[in-house]
Amino acid sequence: MSDTYDVIVIGGGPAGYPAAIRAGQNGLRVACIDGWKNRDGSHAFGGTCLNAGCIPSKALLESSELLHRAREEFATHGIRVTDVSMDVVQMQKRKSGIVKASTQGIQALFKAAKVEALAGHGRLLAGKRVEYTALDGTVRTLEAQHVVLASGSSPMPLRSLPFDGERILDSWGALDLDTVPRRLGVIGAGVIGLELGSVWRRLGAEVVVLEALETFLPMADQQVAKEALKQFKKQGLDIRLGAKVSGATTGPTGVALAYADGSGEHSVEVDKVVVAIGRRPFTEGLLGEGSGVTLDERGFVKVDEQCWTGVDGVYAVGDCVRGAMLAHKGKEEGVMVADLIAGRYGEVNYKTVPSVIYTAPEIAWVGQTEEQVKASGRACKIGVFPFLASGRARAMESTAGFAKVIAAADDDELLGVHVIGPMAGELIAEAVLALEYSASAEDLQRTIHAHPTLSEAIHEAALAADRRAIDFPNR
Ligand code: FAD
Ligand code: NAD
Repeated sequence: MSDTYDVIVIGGGPAGYPAAIRAGQNGLRVACIDGWKNRDGSHAFGGTCLNAGCIPSKALLESSELLHRAREEFATHGIRVTDVSMDVVQMQKRKSGIVKASTQGIQALFKAAKVEALAGHGRLLAGKRVEYTALDGTVRTLEAQHVVLASGSSPMPLRSLPFDGERILDSWGALDLDTVPRRLGVIGAGVIGLELGSVWRRLGAEVVVLEALETFLPMADQQVAKEALKQFKKQGLDIRLGAKVSGATTGPTGVALAYADGSGEHSVEVDKVVVAIGRRPFTEGLLGEGSGVTLDERGFVKVDEQCWTGVDGVYAVGDCVRGAMLAHKGKEEGVMVADLIAGRYGEVNYKTVPSVIYTAPEIAWVGQTEEQVKASGRACKIGVFPFLASGRARAMESTAGFAKVIAAADDDELLGVHVIGPMAGELIAEAVLALEYSASAEDLQRTIHAHPTLSEAIHEAALAADRRAIDFPNR
């Protein structure tokens, strides 16, 4: 095989592998270099998302939610089960099977799109050359017309609580526990803290979440955040806001976490701690001498709206560049870049990237929050529909939460849709499409929603924005 390619993608996560597949679909000669290492030293494509993020976390969220429902809800349905017990080892085995099927699936997709899969390390050199170090240590210099950097991110450490893989864990460690800690500390009430905190809480751990900020979920609509906090507290998640961790003492039986809040200094004893205070771009060893690619002050690869680095033929996508650290955002960037390289049209509409938190109830949104709309000075109308009034949600025993639609008061433009409730992550797709098509609240109002479905909540919330809801009193 010659060592010259149309496109070389460095990184095989959810930003890199779609870029490689689309480049292959576009008839280009493409290689994807990926250096992910599993704990047993084996290699797998899929990056953080498939190996240690989105997929394993959702597998455990599903298992733990089923256990919770079997214990707490089955009796209400008239289903009597005795001896519901958990088998964490089996849960983890199922999770690993799902991860394996997903990562092996990428190899099959690569084959179909004629992408050359290269396991190992890639480093961009000057002149669009890439130094490729295979897993056996062999080094080759490859050449490409275009290079796409998709090296992802890694967990941010806390200086006072360095990861030790034993008691002080990152999110990957928290996904791999094979016994339930009696007391679990979580630093950071962000997406990871809430999702993984929920998993271990449902499996029986006492979970204390220490969050430095006074505001809960500041990036979310605050009406949603308030409801979420109420629901999570009801589930027994002990969320302490404004809690600044100052240090930790690790002993043979656990960790004593010292923190301060508005009321003074405190200490909390836990068996294990998950530090989930955000992620940072991972670019270690990525850029060789003279690559010309620059990083910003936070370590992200500098790119423009079209993910171009400013160096001829070199792009960067996914978590290693600015913007939300989300798999679907990275995927769209990868696809956009592969299409632009092939001379096709490509664009990412950053205004319609949805956010989902896979807790129970789920939280999902797209567009602006009420706070953002108000800060922009644009007058708006707001419709809220509670799942308590949804026939389908009642039938599912999942009535917590609501759908909220925000539209402009002047021309009815849809500005934001927020859902906290059952299957919110699925429901939000309708709102993403609506925003993508610059829909109005009236467009949502005139769209027929099947009955009884959860999606009727978005329909009714859109109607409520004009005080025309049918299934809930308008106020
Ligand atoms: P990554 O997935 O990090 O992949 C980068 C790949 O490049 C890795 O395999 C890495 O080993 C490799 N690499 C790096 N440097 C080199 C090099 N020099 N040479 C060769 N290979 C290299 N997002 C969602 O949208 N939904 C979710 O539900 C969700 N859940 C998550 C749960 C957890 C616990 C975590 C940690 C994250 C979650 N995320 C979720 C975030 C999501 O995983 C990331 O946004 C996504 O993986 C970023 O994709 P990426 O391709 O940019 O980077
Ligand atoms: P995050 O940014 O969502 O949350 C981090 C939280 O930690 C914030 O609330 C922050 O205020 C808090 N924090 C920061 N420093 C702290 C300190 N010293 N003490 C206490 N609290 C502190 O980050 P994350 O939860 O680590 O997730 C990382 C990334 O992964 C996110 O960008 C997210 O988009 C992505 N992710 C997405 C999903 C999803 O889409 N469902 C799931 C998991 C992760």
